Amino acid sequence: MATVTTISPIDGSTLQTYEAADWAVIDAVLDRAVTAQQRWASRPVGDRTELLRAVAGILRGDRERHAALITAEMGKPITESLAEVDKCARNCDVVAEEAPGWLADRELASDARRSWVAAEPLGVVFAVMPWNYPFWQVIRFACAALVAGNAGVLKHSPNVTGCALALADVFAKAGAPDALFQTVVIAEADVPEVVPRIIADDRVAAVTLTGSERAGSAVGAAAGKALKKSLLELGGSDPFVVLADADLDHTVAQAVRSRFGNGGQSCIAAKRFVVVDEIADEFVARLSPAVARLRLGDPADPDTQVGPMARPDLLAALHAQVQASVREGAELVTGGKSVGTYYLPTILDRVTPNMTAATEETFGPVAAILRARDDDQAVEMANATAYGLGCSVWGEPAHALAVGRRIRSGALFVNAMVASDPRLPFGGIRRSGHGRELAADGVREFTNQRTVYVG
Ligand code: NDP
Repeated sequence: MATVTTISPIDGSTLQTYEAADWAVIDAVLDRAVTAQQRWASRPVGDRTELLRAVAGILRGDRERHAALITAEMGKPITESLAEVDKCARNCDVVAEEAPGWLADRELASDARRSWVAAEPLGVVFAVMPWNYPFWQVIRFACAALVAGNAGVLKHSPNVTGCALALADVFAKAGAPDALFQTVVIAEADVPEVVPRIIADDRVAAVTLTGSERAGSAVGAAAGKALKKSLLELGGSDPFVVLADADLDHTVAQAVRSRFGNGGQSCIAAKRFVVVDEIADEFVARLSPAVARLRLGDPADPDTQVGPMARPDLLAALHAQVQASVREGAELVTGGKSVGTYYLPTILDRVTPNMTAATEETFGPVAAILRARDDDQAVEMANATAYGLGCSVWGEPAHALAVGRRIRSGALFVNAMVASDPRLPFGGIRRSGHGRELAADGVREFTNQRTVYVG
């Protein structure tokens, strides 16, 4: 019998071992999902929003326990885990409040007596999710999929299997119909064969994935082969562009939050700091003490600001990127090494667009600073990436907005760090993926926008 074992990111000790599903189990899961979805689709939208309100209540009622589980499994500081659980509950509230409007028929004028677009469910949505926000990434997809009348089947990252099962429990406790939201535990070695098999299965209508380009490409290919809809939220190397007229107190404080929150393990973290020469020395002089002051420690301690890296292989890969960048000519300002399972918050200065820290996504506490001659070169540097998730620009608002419009991304933030918000759509372009999550656009992704014409 294959198993999945979760490991403490702090000391490598075993947390728990779970039985992995074989195809017979998955087959039964898919059968039950189809039955649940058909019943769910016939329920009025008010019943579906009521479920989300109940989910919000369970999440809030059990926030400490859920947050402790997130922290134990992937090492996020406890204050951030609590904030993650709260944000999940908030998303449930927003979707519950707004979804009836988002899903209402949209009347359109035509030659018909009446014509409109109806939002109908797709069926069973399969979700492949990552460990970095183990509750949020799942709730984000589940609220949208379920409120639109779909059922959800989750395959989570193996290192957060406890979170995956806890989420299934949340839905059950909230009164979700049997099998409306199910988790399947799949042994890592089986993933390359079993995930495409699930996607190809006739009982599955669509797939959504958040994760690396490698995983996105595998899942996107499987969906393409089966001619099914896929939604992909992949990596990013977001530029954080600092213009000469930026308010540096505010900008530096947000730079630290944007790069070092969640230990830097976020797709929309600022990863490349593109700073115009005129203020680059001052920016680095303020950023480095702020970074050096970050408190590393036990993630369960509320005073800890940076926890361990989620997995040793991710730490090793990050360190290799830092070493490669230094060999290529980057200047190490602070950090640049690991202490046990922690990576010291790191700043690399004088990074150029062809260095590893600029071309690859750095998924950990490493800030790369690229110095630009002027605004034009800052735009050129910001665009010198294969990714296109978020982008932030800091300066006098009209100036920063004008510069930001010239940078390609799925989201542009001016004088604010890139962050997801339940009320705003979220997603990327280019190698950061396709499709949108959250808000009306996110809910519509999981619907058949059906044209109805009455002659
Ligand atoms: P992965 O992208 O490998 O994992 C995300 C999910 O995809 C997991 O459930 C994983 O399952 C699954 N997956 C992986 N390979 C396949 C495949 N061939 N077919 C189907 N599903 C697959 O991320 P990692 O945990 O390995 O992290 C590696 C890098 O990915 C990070 O350093 C970071 O750059 C990026 N990443 C980006 C995230 C984001 O939010 N955009 C989130 C997490 C990672 P399993 O682990 O069982 O293989």
